Amino acid sequence: MKSVLLQSPGDISIAEIEQTTRKQGEVLIKVRSMGICGSDIGAYRGVNPLVTYPRVIGHEIAGEVIELPENETELKVGDRVLLEPYVYCGKCYPCSIGHTNCCENLTVRGVHIEGGMAEYVSHPRKLMHKVPDNIPWNIIPMAEPLVISMHAIKQSETKAGEHVVITGAGQIGLLAAQYALTIGAIPIVVDPVDERLDLSRKLGVTHTVNPVNTDAVEEIKRITNGRMAEVVIEASGDARAIRGAIDYVSYAGHISLVGWPKNDIPLPTALFTKKELTIRGSRNSVGQFPESLRLISEGKVNVAALLTKTVAFVDLPNTVKDISDHPEKYLKVVGVFDL
Ligand SMILES: [Zn+2]
Ligand SMILES: [Zn+2]
Repeated sequence: MKSVLLQSPGDISIAEIEQTTRKQGEVLIKVRSMGICGSDIGAYRGVNPLVTYPRVIGHEIAGEVIELPENETELKVGDRVLLEPYVYCGKCYPCSIGHTNCCENLTVRGVHIEGGMAEYVSHPRKLMHKVPDNIPWNIIPMAEPLVISMHAIKQSETKAGEHVVITGAGQIGLLAAQYALTIGAIPIVVDPVDERLDLSRKLGVTHTVNPVNTDAVEEIKRITNGRMAEVVIEASGDARAIRGAIDYVSYAGHISLVGWPKNDIPLPTALFTKKELTIRGSRNSVGQFPESLRLISEGKVNVAALLTKTVAFVDLPNTVKDISDHPEKYLKVVGVFDL
């Protein structure tokens, strides 16, 4: 079968690999749509230390059910499904307390194990989610980045009426801002790129701040009537934004760190104590795919606004190259078999 194969960093092509067959407890799907995520670009560039090569990439994968486990009662052949790509062990400490998203032995499709940019994928039944009929194929994969944003908002215990500063208006930040709106919180998007701030406002965000040409701390103080933000979602991984989060957050506030910084960052930990901050990491998600798909289906979160373009499966390798060379041109690209 055909796949999008990374032979080694920088060497990507459509390649024939051995046909996938269904494994026990798994569902075999014919893949229909595949989102390109930042981690796929990281794998292409060779900067993700978790990726081993050769590797079929892709973890935002939707398709049609071809074969089911024998005892299956809910899913049927032909159903449209989205796979949850975080395969956990079920035995380690985080798994034992329900935090399967940060399993010590986590294997993610397209990173540690073969990805879904291929004609067929077999994946555990418990990590397959039925997709509402009204979501088009090229939109379904975006439910995966949405769950990451939802988890970040939940980690920080965001409540209605609270101000949520979101640093970084990439797909995770823009989806976090939209999810914050659905729960009645007030997002403040901070990003150095004006086009991204314009898009935030089109998506219903009232407050946007460009930290390059404004004093972001003063601006957030003004918006929050001096309190500062009860919540900060750090979605950029940028060292200045991470440092900024500690100034943007209120006393007794919450910070969720969802961006992955490249290096260690020195931080003024005395401020953690002085302000009594709750700072939490936020990785992947747990149990949120059904709600994510429902929010998209009901039009509560506009994921289509983030879609830069839809490409044919055969054009995925060249598109990955172009995103790597010109990341500023793209927010989200989804590949489909039938364009
Ligand atoms: Zn993703
Ligand atoms: Zn585990």
